[in-house]
Amino acid sequence: MIPFFNLQHLMMRHQSALILTAQGVIGRGRYVLGEEVAGFEREFADYVGAPHCVGVSDGLAALTLTLRAWKEFGLLKEGDGVAVPANTYVASVLAITECRLTPVLVEPDEATFNLSAAGLERALTSQVKAVMAVHLYGQLAEMPAIAELCRRKGLLLIEDAAQAHGAVLEGVKAGAWGDAAGFSFYPTKNLGALGDAGAVTCKDAALADMLRKLRNYGSAEKYHNEVQGPNDRLDELQAAFLRVKLPHLDPENARRRQIARIYREGIRSAKVQLPKVRAAEESHVWHLFVVRVTDRDAFRERLLAAGVETSIHYPIPPHRQRAFAANLGGLSLPVTEAIHREVVSLPMSPALTDEEAATVVRAVHSAV
Ligand SMILES: *Cc1c(COP(=O)(O)O)cnc(C)c1O
Repeated sequence: MIPFFNLQHLMMRHQSALILTAQGVIGRGRYVLGEEVAGFEREFADYVGAPHCVGVSDGLAALTLTLRAWKEFGLLKEGDGVAVPANTYVASVLAITECRLTPVLVEPDEATFNLSAAGLERALTSQVKAVMAVHLYGQLAEMPAIAELCRRKGLLLIEDAAQAHGAVLEGVKAGAWGDAAGFSFYPTKNLGALGDAGAVTCKDAALADMLRKLRNYGSAEKYHNEVQGPNDRLDELQAAFLRVKLPHLDPENARRRQIARIYREGIRSAKVQLPKVRAAEESHVWHLFVVRVTDRDAFRERLLAAGVETSIHYPIPPHRQRAFAANLGGLSLPVTEAIHREVVSLPMSPALTDEEAATVVRAVHSAV
């Protein structure tokens, strides 16, 4: 059986380095906001090419705290609209509603599953004050045009880069396009910790300072609380693990691209719509390899019978979730709804071998 994603196998490659690192953290006796967090923040800011990085507890907190910081600065106020692709993972939308802002759902580009500048511009109203561009499945959204549009219209731009660590276009990485970006280091992401972890990268020093307060009860100095904030800190141990894994991110992304190439060159069936890469190959880091088929359940069953496990990202769009029934439930978003009915994620991992990828290609042909 070729599993959809074998996390344990991938993590075991780093086992001895991770154990040594954990011993170091245990021995130093500092477990929250110490040198590992500061070191990771420096290294990840360098990697992304962003002036600042603030480590936080998870990806949702990274997005939520950034929007909350903009509210603290008076750049956003309760009820303001935040444009976001309608076919995103639910956390993008939760960050917006958690801050009492209004998600303005935008239909994506069908070929890339991402926000397009044209689609975004059509959705803009005077209520919209910020844009959350999601680099879904690992491919950068149309950032040159989206960033230009946001500049022209005076809109704040946040990237949801939780699936796109290392994706790069015109020399600019995911996380360095917007005013700020939220990253998740959930274990299955392209850069994954051994538990929950996240970070914000941003351009503005004042925003980074506010985020450092907000993640820590609103406090920069112990027992002095300047604003009200949650406890959304990044652990020393997770930061240390991330420092071990960061140097492997580019080679692992390169391997994901090789697997994607085998799939894209090998799969030739009119019934399977392959994912499109709109710009340079490096603008996609293949967090997921997502195809579209009309008869999804039967396709997945036949693949499973041929020894290939698949998954669905995602079965239900945010506006169809019960959690959002009251505010978004009435919306009709046909492009997004069709995507959610038809997408299937094939196995994708830097640990896949060429032979396994070739087996997947054969299984796909036998399953259509
Ligand atoms: C994983 C993910 C998040 C949330 O990250 P967590 O660390 O799980 O909170 C947000 N947006 C997208 C697109 C994601 O894939």
